[in-house]
Amino acid sequence: MGVVNGMQLAKKSYENYSHENLLSVIQSDFLQFSLQYTSENHGAEFTFDNGISMCLLADGIVAFNHNNKSPTSKSIVLSCGIHGNETAPIEICNQLVNDLVNQKIKTDHRVLFIFGNLDSMPSAQRFIEENLNRLFSKEQSSTSIEGLRATKIMRIVDDFFSAASETADRIHYDLHTAIRPSKNEKFAVYPFLHGKPYSKQQLAFLSACDVNTILLSQSPTTTFSYYSSLNHNANAFTVELGTVMPFGQNDMSKFTAFMATLTELLTKPDVNLPDFGQCNMDIFNVNQVINKHHSDFALHFDDNIANFETFSKGALIASETGCEYRAQHDGEAIVFPNANVAIGQRALLTVIPYAL
Ligand SMILES: [Zn+2]
Repeated sequence: MGVVNGMQLAKKSYENYSHENLLSVIQSDFLQFSLQYTSENHGAEFTFDNGISMCLLADGIVAFNHNNKSPTSKSIVLSCGIHGNETAPIEICNQLVNDLVNQKIKTDHRVLFIFGNLDSMPSAQRFIEENLNRLFSKEQSSTSIEGLRATKIMRIVDDFFSAASETADRIHYDLHTAIRPSKNEKFAVYPFLHGKPYSKQQLAFLSACDVNTILLSQSPTTTFSYYSSLNHNANAFTVELGTVMPFGQNDMSKFTAFMATLTELLTKPDVNLPDFGQCNMDIFNVNQVINKHHSDFALHFDDNIANFETFSKGALIASETGCEYRAQHDGEAIVFPNANVAIGQRALLTVIPYAL
């Protein structure tokens, strides 16, 4: 923690920079700017020749707005790096921000970019003190590095969606990469909707992004996407784009469709989408949420097993003092297994195929 705090303290203040100098630092690379500079007084605003304005809201958090936007303009949140070592989404968002700042692309919408756990990015750690993606709840009051960051992010997201027009589409894609490889390389978690209907248009959008596997969550959580879905009625998803890799080592060719579709979302009034019926998607319902209750919690499968590996009915998946967890259906698959989570936290999910 000390080392990273040291890095945080070493951040330069941009307060005395002229508007022009500040813009040129941002234009050279938004992520590097966010990692190296800070300010006591955020809120610097810029307007570009193409009619787009930009506002720095906090370290690593920036909003873009079209000054002549139409009433149908969308309000879009793109978040990345909620886990600081998940580099591919950070590089994707950074590319989009750099393109906007340098006027290579122009958005038709209100767009908020959030680079989540800036403090854990330099050391390529998932988090410093605790998992940021378990802290998105109005009730949380943690004063850890991540707790304070979650509070700040929630306030900014609240303000962003509160200022959206009533009829505008509200969208939030929270972009991640998984710890382990997956049989279905890209997949998305659809937060629990409390009985509201699933958006087939959103699923078709994800399919166009090359995300063809969907997990339907069946319970409230404290993830970022659930927060936006519950509190702001946003079409929100946790999107998993592949496996964790160091910065600069991602094979960006794997994200061509994703990048192209996201760019279309930002730059066009509407994205041309196929009918949901024509999308070949694998949809799963969450069957078991298995939390770790004891320190002897153990997974009963190989460490290298991929997400979405299936089990036969009755197969032992995990155990701990006083409890055994078994597959309840043939073809039940495991997702996000991690025996090293803190006691009380989720150690894995199991899922079963679902027809929408
Ligand atoms: Zn993640």
